[in-house]
Formats: sequence, structure tokens, C-alpha cells
Amino acid sequence: MQIPFNKPYLTGKEQKYLEDALQRRELSGDGYYTERVTSLLERKFSLDKVMMTTSCTHALEIAVELIELKEGDEVIMPSFTFPSTANAVIKQGAKPVFAEIKKDTLNIDPADLEKKISKKTRAVIPVHYAGIACEMDEIAYLAEKYRLYIIEDAAQGVNARYKDKYLGGIGDLGCYSFHASKNYVSGEGGALVINNNNSYFKKRAEVIREKGTDRSRFLREEVDRYTWIDQGSSYSPAELLMAVLYAQLEEMDQIKNMRRKIYEKYYNYLKPFLKTPFLDSMSYIPENRDSNFHIFYLKFSNKEVRDLVITSLQNRGISAAFHYIPLHSSPMGQKLGYQTYDLALTTEVAATIMRLPLYPELTDQELRYILENTADVLGSCKYGR
Ligand SMILES: *Cc1c(COP(=O)(O)O)cnc(C)c1O
Repeated sequence: MQIPFNKPYLTGKEQKYLEDALQRRELSGDGYYTERVTSLLERKFSLDKVMMTTSCTHALEIAVELIELKEGDEVIMPSFTFPSTANAVIKQGAKPVFAEIKKDTLNIDPADLEKKISKKTRAVIPVHYAGIACEMDEIAYLAEKYRLYIIEDAAQGVNARYKDKYLGGIGDLGCYSFHASKNYVSGEGGALVINNNNSYFKKRAEVIREKGTDRSRFLREEVDRYTWIDQGSSYSPAELLMAVLYAQLEEMDQIKNMRRKIYEKYYNYLKPFLKTPFLDSMSYIPENRDSNFHIFYLKFSNKEVRDLVITSLQNRGISAAFHYIPLHSSPMGQKLGYQTYDLALTTEVAATIMRLPLYPELTDQELRYILENTADVLGSCKYGR
């Protein structure tokens, strides 16, 4: 059996909507399907303002431009994240400051976040790893106390909640990803969520997104032509991509439930192994949070065991995967002068974590194969080493 790590799920409606989008001959951005996905997201998640973008990376770039991040400013984020979180900050000439993560959720640790705040800190970017919310109450308290903006990197957090609020809708700004590796996909794609009721953010964001022009106002027939009014870039996704995404978002709860079932089977089957010496911890959803089941991970007691399990599973046709090389110890992090010995827990987690395949099309038979083989490999660790 060969089981890939991920398979983007298709609902079956994508083709129909694609053909419809082609027929409409509105191929550039901000047409019928962009409008459909935007209002669906706003309605479903009770969001004030959503702007579809070409990626989450680009949504993050708009977000830091909106808060006018500049040279000398600092932004606190976890090191255990994807490079885009830090790239956006560097692009503005500002400095990413890396905070430690928490052991239970692998999300930014509010206690370390507070320690990293300086006079130069302008914002914090909590990353909702694996589709499980950060400690948003504590982060909001600190943001208020030190007057920081909160930009949620909710790339993995679409359709997950913290208490009664959907992720991306809690901070001043939120960023979503619809990349093929995420739960709901358009191939490449994202969205910026504006929660801060500063109307300047909304006005400026639509200009930045439309190449520095007031084309959005033109499309709303508020002006009779559009022109260059500010700095901007090309961040609005093509209609074809939004047609694919619409098919996905229409079924977002069904997709979430299919993922939930797999997640729960992993969790229940593998939980007893937490009593064994080599398995340290695994995916965990705190009480007041609802996940979208983006990732299921196991964390081992050391790197040797982790690497051995990954290799053994790969030899049996199962693509298990490690995750981030922490940004502070990556080649770029080194170039920027960060020290590899910083952030002990982040470093340890990166060396000992393993993700199992998790996607709606995983069959019961494949799932059983993964579970039995994982259990078998874990069992052999006990005696083998
Ligand atoms: C996937 C991801 C991104 C980047 O998303 P794109 O849409 O591919 O630009 C950013 N941050 C995190 C945490 C991610 O997982």
C-alpha cells in the first residue's frame, strides 16, 4: 500500500463552477465567484470584512502594510511556523522576534511573548498551529496592555474556533490560506480579514490589493473611472480559483467532519501509547476550542526514535512527515543573526514531531493500515533500542 501524506479533496462541484466561470467570461479578479466566497466567509464566520487574496503570504503582506510597520519596529511571532509569517515583517524592514511555544498546543506561549515585548514592539502574530487556537484571551490582554496590533496567521485555522469566535476574526487582522496543502483549497489562494473597525484599514486594504488604484470603488460604481492613488500590488485572485474555492467552502463543514473522524480514530487508537517511554505527547485540543483537524501529530521522546519511526513507516509505504525547521535556526534565521541554541522547546519539538496523513479521502482500510503499522513500529521501538 502507498499512502501519500496529503491529497487535496475535491467535492465534485469544482468542475461545474469552473465551466460556469469560463462561460461568464469574467476571468480576472472580483467577479461573481469572488463575491460568492467573500460573502460566504463573512456570513459563516460572522466577519465584518473579508478580502480574497492570491495567498496567505500576500494577506500577511497587506496586513503589515496596513499597520504601517517600518524599519526599527519589532513583531513577535513563534519560530515554529512557516517562513511567510516572518517574510512579511522583513519585507517592511522590521524585525521578527521569536517567542517560545507551549507544550500542549505548540502555539505561542503568552508568558514568553510578554518577556519579548520591548519599546519597539508594534504587533504580535499568533499562528494557530494545526488548526487549534492560540491562547487568544491572554494574547489580547497583553496586546491591550502594551498597545500592540494582533495579526492572526490563521493559514491553518479556517473554520476552527476559540470559544465562540472563528479564528481569523479575533485579532485586528486575520489571514487565511487556501493553498492545496490546507483544508479548503483553490490551489493557491488566501484571504485577509479586517476586524479592527478602523475604516481606514478597509479603504487602504482595497487600494493596496488593487495595484494601488481605486478599482474597488469603480466596481461599486462609486467613481466613474479608476486611477492610481497609493502604493499597491496585485493581490486579487482570478475568478477560476474562486470558482474552485466556492465548491470547497459550500461543503466546509462536511469536509471538517470527515477530517474529524480520522483525527479521532488516530487519537483514540494511539492514546494508550502515551504510557510507553518513546511517545511524549500528541495532538491535543483544549476544552474551549474547536479544531478544523488540519494536522494530527505525534511527539516522540527523542529525535532518533522520531527519525526511525518516519523511516520505518516510509518503508511500509506510509508518508509520515516531520514539520518546520524553526525559523530562528534556518539558514535565513542564521543570516539574520539568530542563535540556534535559543528557544529550547521549539528546537526540541521540531526534532521530535511527526505528522500522519490526514485527509477526507483516506479510506478505512488505509487508516487501519496506518494505525496498525504505527502501533507495530512504536512497539518495536520498545525493544529495538
Ligand atoms: C500555509 C501557511 C502559510 C502560507 O500560506 P500560502 O497561502 O501558501 O501563502 C503561512 N503561514 C502558515 C502558518 C501556513 O501554514
